[in-house]
Amino acid sequence: MQQYDTVIVGAGPSGLECATILADEGQTVLVLDKNSDSINNDSNIGHKTCAGGITEKVFDLIPDNIYEIGFNNVSVTVKDRKTEFLRQSPKIITIDRVKYSQYLIDKAKKAGAEIRTETRVSQIKESFVIADGKEIAFKHLVGADGSLSIVRKYLGLKTEKKGIAFHYLVNKNFSDLEFFLDADLFSTGYAWIFPHKEFTSIGAYADIKDRLPKMLNENFHKWLNKKEIDVSGLKLYAAQIPYDYKGHEFGKIYLAGDAAGLASGLTAEGIYAAIISGKDIAGLILDKEYRTDGIDDLLRTKKAQEYLLNIFRHSGPLKNIGYNTLISLSKGSSTKKTLANILR
Ligand SMILES: Cc1cc2nc3c(=O)[nH]c(=O)nc-3n(C[C@H](O)[C@H](O)[C@H](O)COP(=O)(O)OP(=O)(O)OC[C@H]3O[C@@H](n4cnc5c(N)ncnc54)[C@H](O)[C@@H]3O)c2cc1C
Repeated sequence: MQQYDTVIVGAGPSGLECATILADEGQTVLVLDKNSDSINNDSNIGHKTCAGGITEKVFDLIPDNIYEIGFNNVSVTVKDRKTEFLRQSPKIITIDRVKYSQYLIDKAKKAGAEIRTETRVSQIKESFVIADGKEIAFKHLVGADGSLSIVRKYLGLKTEKKGIAFHYLVNKNFSDLEFFLDADLFSTGYAWIFPHKEFTSIGAYADIKDRLPKMLNENFHKWLNKKEIDVSGLKLYAAQIPYDYKGHEFGKIYLAGDAAGLASGLTAEGIYAAIISGKDIAGLILDKEYRTDGIDDLLRTKKAQEYLLNIFRHSGPLKNIGYNTLISLSKGSSTKKTLANILR
């Protein structure tokens, strides 16, 4: 049986950041992913259902040749009232996830990690995984396998807190990056327009506690009709965003990124959490005394975000008024700072 110091399930940002550090430190590392790393393949790892937006805290973590468009002007529309937030430098940048994936794969390989794509992990046992019928032994196992993580299931962790998101990749250029809040349609969630160079991600997100997938889908299409955005003939992508964190270290098994439930339940942002947790898990594997400051900081932000989410959830028909009030207050410097800390 093949044996590695660390086997990582999932070659997304969390798995590959983790693999790079471990391999750099001389560990034998195997990353397994069910998808392909070939650029022209529809099932390329980088074709993850994602709007590809990153906020300021991520800018230094992703090289700028992967950036698509930077937005100094971000607008938020509550029902029909639009507010523009104009800044001197970009606050949100869209990235090319296929290029990003390629960059992460190259970096991990260069460090010495082995990456086996088109290889699905179907079972996990105490000291080995079964992938494409082969048993592969590990000393450490990292579940970096996203929202439907098989490693998380093996650990018996339920995922009650989760959102669902739908999006289309529209072949039309939109100039602005926009968010749309409308409690009647999306409850505590929102719709978005995230322009990239060659397409625009247009989607909607809501917590499943507030909108079941079928209803969110219907309301998303009502909103698209109202905005006169033509999506006929386009493929509708859907994916879950779990945010039910229940730990990241379970003996010799670790969880990172979406598998650990580290994405934001309020904004659905998860790339930052994936990078930070991947790095921290590598630190922990190398040294049990390692301080996971990145994950701790993420958890503090998540707590504040979920507090805000619950306030919105319980504000019933006053939600839109609440959103408008928050937007007006966000023009004041102290509220702006508090909000920036929560939404950062
Ligand atoms: C519609 C939508 C829009 C989003 N927009 C944004 C955004 O604008 N900004 C942002 O920051 N975040 C966004 N997110 C969230 C973000 O995409 C995720 O949080 C991030 O990709 C998580 O990274 P990860 O490494 O944890 O997992 P993933 O990127 O999901 O990678 C997991 C990998 O594991 C592999 N895998 C899964 N199961 C197995 C198995 N059994 N065997 C082998 N391989 C397996 C998968 O193929 C995949 O490559 C969005 C999510 C959705 C659904």
